[in-house]
Amino acid sequence: MTPELADRPRAAWEALSRSIRPEGRALINGQLRAAASGRTFESMSPIDGRVIGAVARCGAADVDAAVAAARAAFESGVWRHIEPQQRKRVLLRFAELIRGDLECLALLETLDVGKPIRDSLSSDVPSAATCIAYYAEFADKLYDEIAPTGPNDLAMIRREPLGVIAAIIPWNYPLVIAAWKIGPALLAGNSVVLKPAEQSPYGAIRLGELALEAGIPPGVFNVVPGFGAEAGKPLALHPDVDMITFTGSTQVGGLMMRYAGESNLKRVALELGGKSPQIVLRDADLGLAATDIAWAIFYNQGESCNAGSRLICDAGIKSELLAEVKRVAATITLGHPLDPDTKMGALIDEGHMRRVLGFVDSGIAEGAEVALGGRRTMQESGGFYMEATILDQVGPATRVAREEIFGPVLAVTAVKDEAEALRIANDSIFGLAAAVWTRDMDAAHRLSNSLRAGTVWVNTYFKSAMTTPFGGFKQSGFGRDRSPHAIEKYTDLKTIWTTYR
Ligand code: NAD
Repeated sequence: MTPELADRPRAAWEALSRSIRPEGRALINGQLRAAASGRTFESMSPIDGRVIGAVARCGAADVDAAVAAARAAFESGVWRHIEPQQRKRVLLRFAELIRGDLECLALLETLDVGKPIRDSLSSDVPSAATCIAYYAEFADKLYDEIAPTGPNDLAMIRREPLGVIAAIIPWNYPLVIAAWKIGPALLAGNSVVLKPAEQSPYGAIRLGELALEAGIPPGVFNVVPGFGAEAGKPLALHPDVDMITFTGSTQVGGLMMRYAGESNLKRVALELGGKSPQIVLRDADLGLAATDIAWAIFYNQGESCNAGSRLICDAGIKSELLAEVKRVAATITLGHPLDPDTKMGALIDEGHMRRVLGFVDSGIAEGAEVALGGRRTMQESGGFYMEATILDQVGPATRVAREEIFGPVLAVTAVKDEAEALRIANDSIFGLAAAVWTRDMDAAHRLSNSLRAGTVWVNTYFKSAMTTPFGGFKQSGFGRDRSPHAIEKYTDLKTIWTTYR
């Protein structure tokens, strides 16, 4: 990112946001189109409640058209049968176009979801580009296998693309999660129909335009904005879709499995909710831990599936640790998302903000104490902001300890020893991530082996790279995004057995 962009003042971003007219039409078969019904919906920015623009309200007819285009592109071989190096070149160009569109994509992402512009610029957009480039590089480096057989036989094991992939995604990291799906799916030679969340359609549509510009053939990558029940459901039920790759709530993840079962047994991969514990033992470096603990819950306003939302700490160090976490939290400036100094922005919409505030009330009613924040703020902006919040004395059986809040609320529970910490940490329907803070390597290994989670961090939080798989145990889902492992789920194995004489 250029220093000019990083330091651009809020007034300049606001002026730019008033001048842009984001594209809100669907992208089907290489063409921007209104919904077949002609219907649109207003997309509203959580920053100030202002309407950003009108978006195509896609329904079953649009989904049918997008799936038909995706199928035709797949059958024609226009993408899956091109030279691997050519596919790589096109995907690398796509990644470069994303990077080159940093200013526009970052602004759309921030307007759509209320996250700080500094994060959209430094993290969301670059990470999406890095993801596409990462998978592009596999195009001419993946080999198939030849199985051991007797003489006169040749058994080849080949990986083949599945066909048409439905990618249904949430609003909290729209660009990054879209890239995690379309990168490996397109690399493998599939066609994709992407259904962004109704709260955050613009980045996905812009990605579709950039993909076309990069040379991804029409029909290979389609985008159908709209609501879950109107666009997502017909897509997930569609008999000509071969796989759903879904990121979202555990509840809707369950529906995806039902839709697959009720239709054509399409494959399903799910990345769902979390309630990730951070265990702090008595010997931990509390200064170090406090910084990551605060960022683990307050980054992206707590709207991260893998937010470290439960703090399970040794009773003997709790007050010292909480004082440190509060000190760090005070540096995570809450403010207008287009201000380059803002580190915590707006929650996605009013309904969600009220739900998060409701959790604070529920925690208090069940015996928790508010140690920090707990209230709505910046109401005069017209947007949906909430203070960084810490609930202390949280009982492990209470709602705030067990349910995903998906906002800036840290639930703190004190424990007497490592065994109790582990028991409480694992006593959850979720298993997305966990962290352990200790200087004792034996304890670190014991706990990281015993925690039931897709990622366990030791003395850090949120560290990640394209090279490591991302996903959950238990009701946090199955199937992994990122890393070479993600490619497997977008392919099927075919054995070709030849006997020669
Ligand atoms: P959501 O489940 O409400 O919606 C996700 C997507 O599903 C949206 O595109 C929505 O329109 C669509 N949808 C909703 N109902 C549908 C239906 N009946 N049929 C078809 N599609 C439908 O989730 P959300 O509120 O957008 O996102 C927040 C959730 O996402 C949280 O639970 C969070 O933990 C989870 N999440 C998980 C990960 C992960 O990788 N594990 C990452 C980010 C977010």
